[in-house]
Amino acid sequence: MKEIPKTKFKETAEQNQKQFFDYLRLESVSTQGRMISETAEFVKSMIEEFGGKAELLNNLGGHPIVYGFFEAGQKGNAEKTLLFYNHYDVQPEDPLDEWKTTPFEPTIIDEILYCRGVSDNKANFMARLNAIQLLNESEEGLPCKVKFLVEGEEEIGSPNIDLYLEKYADLFEADACIWESGSKDSEERFTIDAGIKGIAYFDAWVESADVDIHSSKGAVVDNAAWRLTHALSSLRTKDHQVTIDGFYEMMKPPTELERSFVEKIPFNADKLKENYGLKNPLIVEKMDRTPQEALILYPTLTISGLLSGYIGPGSKTVLPRKAQAKIDVRLVPGMDPNDVYKVIRKHWDKNGFNDVQLKLLTGEKSFRTDLSDPFVDIVLNSAKKVYGEDVVLNPNSPGTGPMHGFGKYLKVPILGSGTGWAKSGAHAPNENVRLKDFYQGIEHMVTLLSNFGS
Ligand SMILES: [Zn+2]
Repeated sequence: MKEIPKTKFKETAEQNQKQFFDYLRLESVSTQGRMISETAEFVKSMIEEFGGKAELLNNLGGHPIVYGFFEAGQKGNAEKTLLFYNHYDVQPEDPLDEWKTTPFEPTIIDEILYCRGVSDNKANFMARLNAIQLLNESEEGLPCKVKFLVEGEEEIGSPNIDLYLEKYADLFEADACIWESGSKDSEERFTIDAGIKGIAYFDAWVESADVDIHSSKGAVVDNAAWRLTHALSSLRTKDHQVTIDGFYEMMKPPTELERSFVEKIPFNADKLKENYGLKNPLIVEKMDRTPQEALILYPTLTISGLLSGYIGPGSKTVLPRKAQAKIDVRLVPGMDPNDVYKVIRKHWDKNGFNDVQLKLLTGEKSFRTDLSDPFVDIVLNSAKKVYGEDVVLNPNSPGTGPMHGFGKYLKVPILGSGTGWAKSGAHAPNENVRLKDFYQGIEHMVTLLSNFGS
């Protein structure tokens, strides 16, 4: 393909800025149900204005999903289809007083664009449309077919996406998928995720009596706080090894290729300690795994919340009748949330904690792209061309997202690419993208589509 001059990316972005800003102004906060149908309609009309076909899908419940389609150009490869996954919903803008701009008014200060939802992930959607326009205007035209799936429930855990993926698997059929997100790390390395960890989230609680009891009775009566903390501490040793039978056994062992990518991932322990003001050594220091292996290849087991008894000022003696905890487990391939429930339940029953209740609140399986798929090289090489040699590829991100259904129903390799940077502040006040990253994001999408179609 004839190279598109670098200046074109910025020029095209500026040409389409009004539309981008109108999109950003829509307060599409999914958890509060704000402006959801307007935004879905807006996304549909944007796809149409850029020359595609679009349709709203909302017959299976939940917020509408936008399907978009762009035909390959005359000289393009109509045999190949790339699917872009995006979401039009955003997180709430609170805390309001920590914003230095108006949250839903796109504002550029020192070449940085601030707005709620800009990095997560309205700018990524816009970069993709800009790239399509540039390719459509080129002599060769669009190098392949392009589809979009833009949903409106990502920020509330995508509770309905699998229903749509199953029913509309033919409509969204593609050879590969580019995920909604991606960013540069704190040392400006462009980072690509080829998967995600899953999650199993639990409520755990104990009720030890009908009423709170005077603590003098502690001589003969047990209490819920002791029961729960004993049950919790039985799940992990002091050296952070999970002790639940069958827990690690569920993991699907990583391939050599996955391991080789994990080895190359940079990790700066000092910086992590400094950034968070950590008071203790990293838990991997006493384990048989590197921090990178722990982050990517191993599951976690975390107490996310703990509540019992009196914790107000001064003293109040009491035997608490109830104790509650929240537990989250980040899953790697091979682990099913329901099976994690079963092994914890079995572990507690076996160890005499039948009175400790456990409930699986939400679960999502993990996903990892087969790294030997040629699409991985296409994305990596196009990224290196735009961002330089030190591009990082994570076999999966340490975080979670609704990727599993895409793998299951569409059977596509999935990689992330986006325009964020280390201080984009997704979900936080002053969310932003740097304009230079936005222009580079357009360039990456142009390069990737060209490599993919050829
Ligand atoms: Zn988000």
